[in-house]
Amino acid sequence: MSRFTTLGVGGEAEVWTVASHAQLREAMSAPYRILGGGSNLVVADEGLSERVIRLGGEFAQSELEADPALGTPEQPVTGWVGGGVPLPGLLRKLQKMGLSSLEGTVGIPAQLGGAIWMNAGTRFGEAFDGLHSLEIVSPEGRLVVTPTELPWSYRSSGIPRNHIVTRARLKLRRSTPEAVQERMDAADTARRGQPKNRTPGCAFKNPTLPGGERLGAGKLIDEAGLKGARIGHAMISPEHANFIVNLGGASAADVHALLSLIRDRVGIELELEYELWP
Ligand SMILES: Cc1cc2nc3c(=O)[nH]c(=O)nc-3n(C[C@H](O)[C@H](O)[C@H](O)COP(=O)(O)OP(=O)(O)OC[C@H]3O[C@@H](n4cnc5c(N)ncnc54)[C@H](O)[C@@H]3O)c2cc1C
Repeated sequence: MSRFTTLGVGGEAEVWTVASHAQLREAMSAPYRILGGGSNLVVADEGLSERVIRLGGEFAQSELEADPALGTPEQPVTGWVGGGVPLPGLLRKLQKMGLSSLEGTVGIPAQLGGAIWMNAGTRFGEAFDGLHSLEIVSPEGRLVVTPTELPWSYRSSGIPRNHIVTRARLKLRRSTPEAVQERMDAADTARRGQPKNRTPGCAFKNPTLPGGERLGAGKLIDEAGLKGARIGHAMISPEHANFIVNLGGASAADVHALLSLIRDRVGIELELEYELWP
């Protein structure tokens, strides 16, 4: 699994890359997990007993150019994009076409399906900003829903685990490539100071005190003197303390040990941001 995660750790698993609904149904006939860009995961060194499903083929394609009536003022632009399409490439394409609404998610190395499932975002925008409707496949079958039918909220779509976002119909506004680029640059600038090493993103959510005050997890870890702390080949980033990075050859055990160290040293209970598989 180290090949399929941005952190680059994880043991063996049976990975099924599916290209069609027929293959997806077959893959879902035994216990499974659905993998996106692997940008929010720490997979155990021992590997996984369940099948891992990756979206390829028709799920990794988009049909954005298909509609000739794109983006007239009366009609917002829509188009289907596969859940397995990498978000960074999609944003580049939309920027070139001068289509706006998802640019607040710039810099998130997810697939569209994974970004929607988590409602990934930044303070400049989130995945649900650009959604018209979604195709979801579950063991019960296939359905199309609109965001109003989902209990989505901050960093959550409300879609049950292992219900697979196979396609999304985007709702995009006609803009210009320059204006979209400008908004992407603004969101990107806010990321300065984030490490460039392999990482699964932020380790912990920002905790909220009983009185409602929100604290920065990175600041708490920094104040505990842990910037640059290293176990094995994993390190708490000296640039941003809420990032654990793989220096090359790290194991999941190294990352778990750093997470425990942080929890021991920071006096406040911290909730993990990424998922531990299994
Ligand atoms: C450098 C870096 C920066 C990041 N910055 C941000 C940020 O600014 N904001 C933010 O919100 N997150 C950020 N993240 C975290 C991460 O990118 C998001 O959580 C993202 O939504 C994960 O998507 P993914 O496709 O990589 O999913 P994965 O990591 O592969 O999986 C995460 C979860 O989504 C589920 N999933 C994946 N694909 C699907 C699908 N098609 N259908 C249903 N479920 C699916 C998986 O089963 C799993 O439960 C960052 C990560 C990194 C490495």
